[in-house]
Amino acid sequence: MLKLSTSVQYLRGIGEARAKALARLGVRTLGELLSFFPRAYEDRSRILSVAQLEEGESACVRCTVTSEPELSRVRRGMELLRFRASDATGSLLITYFNQGWLKQRLRRGGTYIFFGRVQLFGRSFAMNNPAFEPEEEAGRVTGRIMPVYRLTSGIAQRDVTNAMRQALGECSMEVRDGVPPAVERRYSLCTTRYAYENIHFPEDMRALSLARQRLVFAELFTLVCALSLVRGEGEARTGLRFAPADFSAFTATLPFAPTRAQLRAISECAADMSSGRAMNRLVQGDVGSGKTLVAAALIWYAAQNGCQSAFMAPTELLAEQHYATLTGFLQPFGIRVVKLTGSMRAAERRESLAALASGEAGLAVGTHALISEGVDFARLGLVVTDEQHRFGVAQRTALAGKGERTHVLVMSATPIPRTLALIIYGDLDVSLIDELPPGRQRVDTFRVTGSYRRRLNLFIDRLVGEGRQVFVVCPAIEADPEAPRELVSAEEHTGELRRALPGLRIECIHGRMKARARDAVMSRFAAGEIDVLVSTTVIEVGVDVPNAALMIVENAERFGLSQLHQLRGRVGRGSHKSYCVLVSDARNEETLARLNVMTRVYNGFEIAEEDLRLRGPGDFFGARQHGLPELHIADLGADMDVLKTAQSAAEELLAADPGLQKPENRRVRAAAEQLLAVTGDRLS
Ligand code: ADP
Ligand code: MG
Repeated sequence: MLKLSTSVQYLRGIGEARAKALARLGVRTLGELLSFFPRAYEDRSRILSVAQLEEGESACVRCTVTSEPELSRVRRGMELLRFRASDATGSLLITYFNQGWLKQRLRRGGTYIFFGRVQLFGRSFAMNNPAFEPEEEAGRVTGRIMPVYRLTSGIAQRDVTNAMRQALGECSMEVRDGVPPAVERRYSLCTTRYAYENIHFPEDMRALSLARQRLVFAELFTLVCALSLVRGEGEARTGLRFAPADFSAFTATLPFAPTRAQLRAISECAADMSSGRAMNRLVQGDVGSGKTLVAAALIWYAAQNGCQSAFMAPTELLAEQHYATLTGFLQPFGIRVVKLTGSMRAAERRESLAALASGEAGLAVGTHALISEGVDFARLGLVVTDEQHRFGVAQRTALAGKGERTHVLVMSATPIPRTLALIIYGDLDVSLIDELPPGRQRVDTFRVTGSYRRRLNLFIDRLVGEGRQVFVVCPAIEADPEAPRELVSAEEHTGELRRALPGLRIECIHGRMKARARDAVMSRFAAGEIDVLVSTTVIEVGVDVPNAALMIVENAERFGLSQLHQLRGRVGRGSHKSYCVLVSDARNEETLARLNVMTRVYNGFEIAEEDLRLRGPGDFFGARQHGLPELHIADLGADMDVLKTAQSAAEELLAADPGLQKPENRRVRAAAEQLLAVTGDRLS
């Protein structure tokens, strides 16, 4: 008897080599195999007559073999098996390459169903290597909807299909997901067995849709349960109650007046912090909208109430920058700011730790080093995370856990359409900074083809001559012989730019460099010691180099619009007129239309909506970026309705059993744990 935990190697047709190939696809056991869902389906359910065939389409035909299948050797190592087959309406030429053994299985006079791509051979229809089965046995690989699986070298579609059939036969009864029976009934879901059988080998389109609905529901239901367990929902979230304060005491020290949007965000946060409930708020604002100032005001507010704050940034470099900026904002009030990063020397680190533990320091700015053991606060009252999508929910919660009844402020420049925000941010309240500080110049954006290279180089030269700096972003790190030839790699491109612009200081950074080496180059760029910085998208987030006035994106078609918008936000942060040039040799109309959006639209949220509309949410950003577990089957955009249902189902369940401790909910909890295992998050 095979079980869900049995290795796939016990299946017929799966030897060591194929088992290895499957392992590369993440499939080791029968259970994992059953959850290896098709990436697409091929509808072979309609059987056409020869007269109905169309060149280029894939189709099934029912034909009788009318000529003796003939085996010939065209050249060394190439064997052809060829014959004609026909029905009442016409005939076609069928050829198999290097599959001589089929001669035993295809008899003249026999009737078969063939499935393949229709081609023209002279004036006759033809099929090469069609799938087939005798008419009386049809229904396994023809005359039905067939799954199409993701493959890797060493394993073929047929191998996976055969293995899947066996696995379903052995254990489709045993598969379980996290949906409790009561929920299954209440939402009229099909059984898991039906779902697994029909997601792989659907009886028809309706069965497929029912199956998919169950699986998507189960996945989203588990996800929602998991996220709310991580957040520790259901517990009373009381917060430190801060006394009201007059923020003009803080804003009066600023070199500029805060925008109305900044003031609104500050007062919304302050209202939370004085309510007695713990604040859990997202401040969302386009790049350059001045989120740091909002954070500074609230850190000041916490200090007024005798509390310390912690500010967590995704990289060392950003932590450095925020450290400098926040020190500038807060020092006038006698608030001591300390730094805490992974690369600090031991003595420096000890000093920071001591100042935090004694309460002498009012603010710690750092990377996730802040979460590590041994970092203790005397009285932590506010936690701020910047560019939240780089952090998992659990990291945020861990930092907040270093205090009691801590307020949490999350800042993000990544505009997220409302539908996605619902799941990504769940229970966060949202404040929007929908206004840029006055006098901000638009970053004029152009789309050019590679033939502009010479002119573009002249432009770089001119700007650098005027004292400005330039970012160049490439999609790949190094030249890859396998990659399409037109793909520009950061390393190669650096070489080319150095040859074309010999007088300039040109450096390259990419994600495969050690973080420290990368930060070193970045710091030299920030200090103006480098003229042109070529990089992969490692610079996407938050770095502030006000002197940079040109952003060039190579192979711009490879990037999402929101990503391009983030990249563009790296320039135009100073007083200099700034530009963004998107280089692309793409000819596809849709791609060009997409890139043209950038030359027309300058608002991050509008761009995000366009992006979602044009590309669909699957691509919008990798879920991993949000610290969310990877989803196998659900699509956060397309399955919005199911998501809402799953959410209310999960809420009901959690209301009745907050920690999912009841025996009947043990399975949901286990499923949630498994889902989160990938992100390294832990349930509370
Ligand atoms: P982001 O929202 O992208 O984090 P920052 O906080 O880095 O933006 O602010 C971008 C720049 O705008 C900084 O140089 C900051 O000093 C400046 N800034 C912020 N608020 C204002 C304001 N109200 N008026 C003028 N400049 C401002
Ligand atoms: Mg910022």
